[in-house]
Amino acid sequence: MQVIDSIEGLRKARKAITGRVGVVPTMGALHEGHLTLARQARADNDTVIATIFVNPTQFAPNEDFNAYPRDLARDLAMLETLGVDVVFTPTPALMYPPNFQTFVKVDQVTQGLEGDLRPNHFRGVATVVSKLFNLTQPDVAYFGQKDAQQVVVIRRMVADLNFPLEVAVIPTVREADGLAMSSRNVYLTPEQRAAAGVIYRALVAAAQAYDEGERTPANLRAVARNVLKTEAQAEIEYVAVNDPSTLIGVHEPAEQPLLLSMAVQIGRPRLLDNCLLPWSLNNRDGLTATLGV
Ligand code: AMP
Repeated sequence: MQVIDSIEGLRKARKAITGRVGVVPTMGALHEGHLTLARQARADNDTVIATIFVNPTQFAPNEDFNAYPRDLARDLAMLETLGVDVVFTPTPALMYPPNFQTFVKVDQVTQGLEGDLRPNHFRGVATVVSKLFNLTQPDVAYFGQKDAQQVVVIRRMVADLNFPLEVAVIPTVREADGLAMSSRNVYLTPEQRAAAGVIYRALVAAAQAYDEGERTPANLRAVARNVLKTEAQAEIEYVAVNDPSTLIGVHEPAEQPLLLSMAVQIGRPRLLDNCLLPWSLNNRDGLTATLGV
């Protein structure tokens, strides 16, 4: 496995690669969710490039850029075990040299949900992902369902800017109690960690109501909220029902697939989760065909 921390080094390595290339962009502090993306990339491609970069432009000044967990040695060992070929590990100074001034701004799908609470977040994400696409030139890029709005933003950007690649969407990987794996889960105390299982139970309850015929978005949201409210430590930021293609809010009963998403603060971290309704769409094919297309 080649570990590369320079632009020239990456360009040189990329030029020598032929065949199908899969890229897995991450911020490191890898867990089974990231590893699942890398495994899928390994299965689908001749060459797998992973990137590890905690991207400062997607963090607001009051967010956890400095505190974000970092463990490069452990991350590299995990990626090596999976047979990843190349890992790109740039520094912020390499990605944003002095006088850097070009950003990618995706308009509508960055509004609402996370975009409302994190105003410049998706500008940072779209910018760094564009740069990583230009540097790694993948045939396919792997993203997780857990950050569903990010998938929609990246797909919009790929279509609008004619990036010659596919976006594969990988289902959320969960802990035994259903909590979505996240690098930020390490911020939870044991008590908060136990409480956090309520988020998955809220998704499942809404999905069950959907299966039983409930189609009114307000009622689906209420089912989820009522489960979340059983956990005193859970502070609900939003529970939303959106069109999974456009992210426009859905307010009338609809037979189209729906994206149910939520942000819940438990202790320090904001925990995000989502599912497609009907639940049967929450697999790679269903997600790839539905989210942001
Ligand atoms: P991050 O390092 O948090 O930026 O995540 C890198 C990629 O891994 C993103 O595409 C995430 O959506 C994805 N990811 C993070 N957590 C999970 C998870 N629990 N299951 C599946 N994908 C995930």
